[in-house]
Amino acid sequence: MLDVGRHPNITLLAYSQVEEVEGEAGNFKVTVRRKARYVDEDKCTGCGACAEKCPTAVADAFNEGLGTRRAIYSYFAQGIPSTHTIDPEYCRQLKGKKCGICAKTCEADAINFDQEDRMLELDVGAIVMAGGYDIFDPSLIPEYRYREIPNVVTAIEFERLLSASGPTEGHLDRPSDRAIEAEIEGLEKKAKKSQRVINKFEEKHEETSPAFYEKYQAGDFDGDEDRKKWADKFEAHQKIMEPLEALKKKAETFKVAKRLAFIQCVGSRDFRFYPFCSGYCCMHSIKEAIIAHEHGPETTSAIFGMDIRAVGKGFEEYKIRGGNHSNITYVRGRVAEITEGENHNPVVTYEDTHERKVKDQEFDMVILATACAPTRGVKALAAILGVELDAYDFIKTTPTAPVDTTVPGIFVCGCAGAPMDVPESVAQASSAAQRAAEVVFVLPSNKEKAVA
Ligand SMILES: Cc1cc2nc3c(=O)[nH]c(=O)nc-3n(C[C@H](O)[C@H](O)[C@H](O)COP(=O)(O)OP(=O)(O)OC[C@H]3O[C@@H](n4cnc5c(N)ncnc54)[C@H](O)[C@@H]3O)c2cc1C
Ligand code: SF4
Ligand code: SF4
Repeated sequence: MLDVGRHPNITLLAYSQVEEVEGEAGNFKVTVRRKARYVDEDKCTGCGACAEKCPTAVADAFNEGLGTRRAIYSYFAQGIPSTHTIDPEYCRQLKGKKCGICAKTCEADAINFDQEDRMLELDVGAIVMAGGYDIFDPSLIPEYRYREIPNVVTAIEFERLLSASGPTEGHLDRPSDRAIEAEIEGLEKKAKKSQRVINKFEEKHEETSPAFYEKYQAGDFDGDEDRKKWADKFEAHQKIMEPLEALKKKAETFKVAKRLAFIQCVGSRDFRFYPFCSGYCCMHSIKEAIIAHEHGPETTSAIFGMDIRAVGKGFEEYKIRGGNHSNITYVRGRVAEITEGENHNPVVTYEDTHERKVKDQEFDMVILATACAPTRGVKALAAILGVELDAYDFIKTTPTAPVDTTVPGIFVCGCAGAPMDVPESVAQASSAAQRAAEVVFVLPSNKEKAVA
């Protein structure tokens, strides 16, 4: 990515959207909307001082909503260009309220609330579509109770939990425990506020609240309005402190997840959704189980699948290594249902097809290997470009020309065309670039044209 950012022949138009495409192979006119960031890219140093001070917390899409970012943010630390962006959906100032804290904080004077979208017209010879894929929504399979049982997560959410730069800094803290920790944080804020009010009464009357309250209840201050207020505030404070203490006690027992279940083919090889194999999910489950074991050597993983598709050089060996050295058990069985046991532990009900028995097994966390679904917005983009989609809404190609779309001069690579892993996507990207170069350089009139 850094190389792309620095390459003299590549212009990166991040935070931009293709709005219109006209013309034909060798001679396309592409209209691009460069969305306003409300931050001057040339001035922003990416220091992050603005985000530290911004009061508006927003669910962090990069961390799959498992953490928060601020209304002024950098999508992820290694992003190119290294600039911050203001989210107009949440920024107080852009929503017409008073704020502007980021502008006051920014020493580079990069904040510009008056910035507007700009339209850019590009003359290009060829186009490569590389919009990738989206995660299949597992809540469409109600028996897996995704979003109902907090400790049932998708593989991509699990990757963010495993990541050192993720919301838990790589610790496998369970979502149910994190929800309680967030509740504790909220109650602590309330308790601090109510404690301040009580402190004022205590200073004024030179007495502790519990001592005063005992007398109040005995009827010592009947008719005293000020002391009635104090008693009310003290009671309200108690109502915050009781659940807070109980939750804190509970939090002392929290442990990182050690018993993991991976469920394969969630939405893939399933005629209700996608009949195809998504190709990469068997391997990413093995990878995630191996990394989890590296983080905590006592971690055990059960990978439930109809079969494990380890197709590729060294992949089968990797699978065996996981079994031999990383406490992974491969269970041949289709999971029928996930229910919630004690302590928010997910319980997996499955048929062990070797033993021909239906079994229940309890875990600390269940990870769903979701299907590779077409990227959101692909229909709109395909309509703009005039390319056809296949039966599942991936870009239509043929087996003999896997990077050619139905429009000459427009090519596709990676998961935009079909599910595939990173090495295959990279190989296809080279292939698509080569096909695009043929269009640009073979036509003599196109020597100066670019590829978009
Ligand atoms: C949990 C998980 C773990 C995985 N682990 C591995 C692994 O370890 N090894 C491996 O080989 N593969 C792994 N994969 C598969 C891997 O993610 C894909 O093979 C790879 O990301 C495909 O690359 P891509 O460039 O085609 O698509 P993507 O990575 O999806 O990139 C497409 C990009 O295009 C952008 N985009 C979409 N629409 C538009 C638009 N209209 N305009 C502009 N930009 C747009 C998207 O925001 C995205 O940044 C994993 C997949 C999952 C779900
Ligand atoms: S104006 Fe306020 S809310 Fe908006 S990004 Fe700046 S600090 Fe955040
Ligand atoms: S790669 Fe494995 S988990 Fe993914 S769809 Fe194929 S068989 Fe199922």
